[in-house]
Amino acid sequence: MFSRKKEYVRAVDDISFSLGSRETLGLVGESGCGKTTASRAILHLIKPTSGSVWFEGRNLFAMSHRQRQEHRRRMQIIFQDPFGSLNPRLTVERIVEEPLSTHRIGDRRERRAKVEETLNLVGLLPEHMSLFPHEFSGGQRQRITIARALISNPDLVIADEPVSALDVSVQAQILNLLKRLQRDLKLSFIVVSHDLAVIRHISHRVAVMYLGQIAELAPVDLLYDNPLHPYTRALLSSVPISHPRLKRDRILLHGDIPSPRRPPAGCRFHPRCPERMDVCSKENPATRQVGDGHLVACHLYEKDDLWFPSDPGGIESPSSM
Ligand code: SF4
Repeated sequence: MFSRKKEYVRAVDDISFSLGSRETLGLVGESGCGKTTASRAILHLIKPTSGSVWFEGRNLFAMSHRQRQEHRRRMQIIFQDPFGSLNPRLTVERIVEEPLSTHRIGDRRERRAKVEETLNLVGLLPEHMSLFPHEFSGGQRQRITIARALISNPDLVIADEPVSALDVSVQAQILNLLKRLQRDLKLSFIVVSHDLAVIRHISHRVAVMYLGQIAELAPVDLLYDNPLHPYTRALLSSVPISHPRLKRDRILLHGDIPSPRRPPAGCRFHPRCPERMDVCSKENPATRQVGDGHLVACHLYEKDDLWFPSDPGGIESPSSM
């Protein structure tokens, strides 16, 4: 047991993307693909071993802890579980005002007024301020977590599976609320979800992740109407179609996602890919630009132009942060 070699898991490996102001980027993929790790690394909730995150031209990872804390006020997160992420012993007022007191913003009276205003924004009432989380429904609790994320006037909000713990009937209400808030408050969003319908509803662009890497990234309609990567095609083929006369051939993937501790050589998707070629098990495909803002990492598109992330940021988007 003492001679055991240390092994490392590269939950996210060599990914690059940009996010425009007022843009929503969806990160989608099966569980374990690295989407949550990527989003938490952006906020430094997980310390990455290398890489950089640029926010308005400054590298967050090169900042001191204090400088980063200043920026963190402008980057907030909505957690997946509205039950677990709210302290059951605190009133809604205390929960929502927490980011303000942490960053020492305003006095008690100003903070109370801001809590009231923010609750109103997310569809809650001033009388809810004195209640505790257990007195609310799942949808209302998620509104509380959204209010807590918004109270410090962030520019970027990361929503990690924001509706997966909610009833289907409530999911659409929360997604529409997020869309309205983005429009009214001019927010940028990164939305993490395994649910392709959720991602389509809310995103402007979508990055499909597989085993720690981005397989395909494209504007939402382009990706859903013309998926190019075999993994994206397989994922989309599993989405039910609502029209009774329309049919879609289901692409079945065999085998499980390999362990990120020992990812396969070459293309990480090759053990499950229905279109694999000899080269796929030997060389990791480079990311190529196959259309306007459409990137894909697959040997099937070798003839297309190689894509290199610009520094800082990534691909051009409406107005890069
Ligand atoms: Fe499939 Fe090869 Fe493309 Fe990987 S590189 S997705 S194995 S065709």
